[in-house]
Amino acid sequence: MSFPYDDRFAIQRALPDVGIPREEILTQLEAMSAAEDRTWETGQCSGTMYCGDHDHYDFLNHAFGYFSHVNTLQRDMCPSATKFESEVIAMTLDLLHATPRGDATPAGLITSGGSASIAHAVLAYREANRGRTTQPNMIKPETAHPAFSKAGHLFGVEMRVAPVDRTTGQVDLDWVADHVDDDTVALVGSATNYGYGTIDPIEELGELALRHDVGLHVDGCLGGFILPFARELGYDVPPFDLAVPGVTTMSADTHKYGYALKGTSVLAFNDQALRNAQYFYQTDWSGGKYCSPGMDGSRSGGLLAATWAAMVSLGREGYRRYAGEILATAATMRAAVEEHPELRVIGRPTFLFSFTADDFDVYHVNDFLRTRGWRLNGQQYPNALHIAVTRPQTQPGVAERWATDLAAAVDYARAHRDQPAQSGAIYGGVPGGPTPETDDLIRFFMADMMDHQMAVPEP
Ligand SMILES: *Cc1c(COP(=O)(O)O)cnc(C)c1O
Repeated sequence: MSFPYDDRFAIQRALPDVGIPREEILTQLEAMSAAEDRTWETGQCSGTMYCGDHDHYDFLNHAFGYFSHVNTLQRDMCPSATKFESEVIAMTLDLLHATPRGDATPAGLITSGGSASIAHAVLAYREANRGRTTQPNMIKPETAHPAFSKAGHLFGVEMRVAPVDRTTGQVDLDWVADHVDDDTVALVGSATNYGYGTIDPIEELGELALRHDVGLHVDGCLGGFILPFARELGYDVPPFDLAVPGVTTMSADTHKYGYALKGTSVLAFNDQALRNAQYFYQTDWSGGKYCSPGMDGSRSGGLLAATWAAMVSLGREGYRRYAGEILATAATMRAAVEEHPELRVIGRPTFLFSFTADDFDVYHVNDFLRTRGWRLNGQQYPNALHIAVTRPQTQPGVAERWATDLAAAVDYARAHRDQPAQSGAIYGGVPGGPTPETDDLIRFFMADMMDHQMAVPEP
């Protein structure tokens, strides 16, 4: 872990006896924020800053500020939250082609992020099937996000992991079909997955789900707000959303390609009854009758306002324009990879692509790219590197710099193929240091992040 501020600013191990003047605090925050923004403003960082436009962020912060202090649980005091929430849900459901079918009316839920949307979906499938099984399982492609396994762990839902073809980057449908049983409550497909940016065969998974009368969650956390526009722009993207028969839930992160502030995501349901199955309420509490739409209690009205503001300020035209620029840049950057016979792109990705190398460890490529200021994400089995192309990469000159630096990186990798590479595969990319693998290392790593400044009593 890196602690560059230990020497620069006073460390607070307990509340300061007397408050620090606001001006001094803001000066410190500004210094840290400016330094950290420089890590991505160059356009050399994969994913993470989806909009990367300070004007846009200033606008969202302004919108956030009007309601940042508001608790959306106290809904009588903030009818605005009801407007923002229901409109964000309605706009997302419209974008994802949710349509009433038979008795089913589509519905949505705003959560705190992609993992939370996935968790609420897993919970909904478990609760909706309570009468049918006490040992529910779901089947996810190996490439599906760890949030599914985390939710399975939390909620007691077995997560069966289906193998993925490493050439196409898509799930093995036969394996899925062979492993559905009476306790299966839902299948999972990604559009796109985080690792390779490839889209699972959603129509085929939908057929399977219908045949077995189970649910199908499409993880559109990453793709949900960009793939609809890729289709409109004529990119070859197969159907992936709630229009596909058999799809029952879909997650789409407003805080990724929805260009909103961090802390929101939408979970779309084809049927209100499925959403309603996951509510928790306690009506006999002495503190009053309690109910909340999801797992969170208090939520900030600011996030709802900022998410709403992002969506209505961009409109379809804005999202389509950004998608067009991102997809064109991604195609150029991918073409630069394909110019090197040593490198191999996995599957047929769109805005995010991953590549591996057969003749040397592709982490040598990463080692070199780091020296040129690139921040890619490392993967394993096989070792691979991915870049989620976002708006910062669409700045002039970035794709050209990529082609030049990549060529030099391939030369470096070839020259160093007999030595072990430095970088490793960790989600979120931590520079240097060991890749945690064992329980002990993982605990050390987490503690290093959170407990570093703990006040230790004198012995
Ligand atoms: C980011 C991501 C998630 C998890 O979302 P968080 O917002 O990080 O909780 C899930 N699935 C995919 C495909 C993602 O890219």
